[in-house]
Amino acid sequence: MWIDIILKIYIIHLDYMGIEMKGKLMKKHQNEVINKIIRVILPMSLCAVLMICSSLCIYASNTPAYGGKITRGVSNVTIYLDYNSGMANWENYVVKAADNWVDPGSGMTNPIKITFVSSNSASTMDFYSKSSSFWSSSGSTTVLAETRMFSKGTRIYPSASSTTTWNYAEIYINDTNFRLSSFSNEQALGTVIHEMGHAFGLAHYNTNVNSIMCQTSYGRAVQRVQKCDNDAINAKYN
Ligand SMILES: [Zn+2]
Repeated sequence: MWIDIILKIYIIHLDYMGIEMKGKLMKKHQNEVINKIIRVILPMSLCAVLMICSSLCIYASNTPAYGGKITRGVSNVTIYLDYNSGMANWENYVVKAADNWVDPGSGMTNPIKITFVSSNSASTMDFYSKSSSFWSSSGSTTVLAETRMFSKGTRIYPSASSTTTWNYAEIYINDTNFRLSSFSNEQALGTVIHEMGHAFGLAHYNTNVNSIMCQTSYGRAVQRVQKCDNDAINAKYN
């Protein structure tokens, strides 16, 4: 049907150009036009569709991950909250963040299981509340939170190329900045979910504002685990 429409437009165009064709000559010309559509226009359209698809695929690719991961995996994650440091203030966010990782919704599944424990002797993630001064020596008090990984008590520095695993991670909440009235509850929850993503082994995804692993300073538009983040967890631990 659309070939008919293109033909009609082409014939109108020929009329406009003052070209008149009748009978066999017209039929021959129509066949040439159909040939041209099949040889040139269809492959070009296909190329355009493929280009659009491939750009969408790049956009929807998994969140980048470190080469390493939690030594014990994610099916028995244990979280310790350091109440001595003031974590009772932020407990609610950690509970909600854990819930979001275990069940990100929209039919997403992953192997993550989390329990809260009262000792950090063998826990996977330890949360501490810190004031901004904790970071002032490193020159930044704009930090919202930070995750550090440890292997047998020694801090390790995960990267895409390092496959070193970590026994546990420590997550530091910047109490000073979490208390700012300009810092919303949604941002606070998103920040904790983001840090837990690091502890699981996910890296930043600053080219995708629709990933929980996009940094706030890069305009993250979401505050919950997204498909690209959940897929990265499954790629790492399944
Ligand atoms: Zn981060």
